[in-house]
Amino acid sequence: MTHDYRLAREKMVKNQLIPRGITDKGVLRAMGKIHRHLFVEEALIGEAYNDHPLPIGHKQTISQPYIVALMTEALELTGNEKTLEIGTGSGYQTAILAELSKAVYTVERIGPLLEKAKTLLGQLGYTNIYFKTFDGTLGWEDFAPFDAIIVTAGAPQTPQPILDQLTEGGRLVIPIGNRYSQDLIKVTRVKNTFKQENLGGCRFVDLIGVHGWNE
Ligand code: SAH
Repeated sequence: MTHDYRLAREKMVKNQLIPRGITDKGVLRAMGKIHRHLFVEEALIGEAYNDHPLPIGHKQTISQPYIVALMTEALELTGNEKTLEIGTGSGYQTAILAELSKAVYTVERIGPLLEKAKTLLGQLGYTNIYFKTFDGTLGWEDFAPFDAIIVTAGAPQTPQPILDQLTEGGRLVIPIGNRYSQDLIKVTRVKNTFKQENLGGCRFVDLIGVHGWNE
């Protein structure tokens, strides 16, 4: 396919991200660059840049572009970070993180989703992403601590292992709430205290695991 959807990406940035207050230059650049249409099912390619989430199979979704931008901006990435992502899904958010971090460690509980994302991100040339099929509510102990952690599924509360794996000064973004609606919470580790900020309402699929919801 020769159509690269450049215009659709530009419109997404101009109409969905900037007017809602996304200002981080790196985030806007990455979202204008990454070919989101490659991360959705073929039948949904025409909707890839629309202002809503889309199904990606296995009852999971690729997040709405604005939510990806909002969460990424909250991580305050400068290019030097070791970043942990819980919930690889399509791998779209992973690509955005890989553009803005030194290295990305991404964990997904559904094997086939992880494999598909890994193949695609490999084809796109990323060499700074590490993948694991695992229960991400336990974090990724072997490579901890992380400067930035993003959880892209909704949790009843912040899993303790994830807090423990945050560096001093590190940022975590996680949707917290019930199974139907959540608030996007930003946590910053200041010494051994955790400063919390509410970034607003959102709706995610369930974070399922030892420190999340039951299946
Ligand atoms: N960032 C992804 C969002 C995918 S939806 C994207 O934009 O495509 C959330 C993902 O979290 C799903 O793929 C789901 O399988 C995964 N997930 C849920 N609980 C998890 C857990 N405990 N560990 C790892 N991944 C989990």
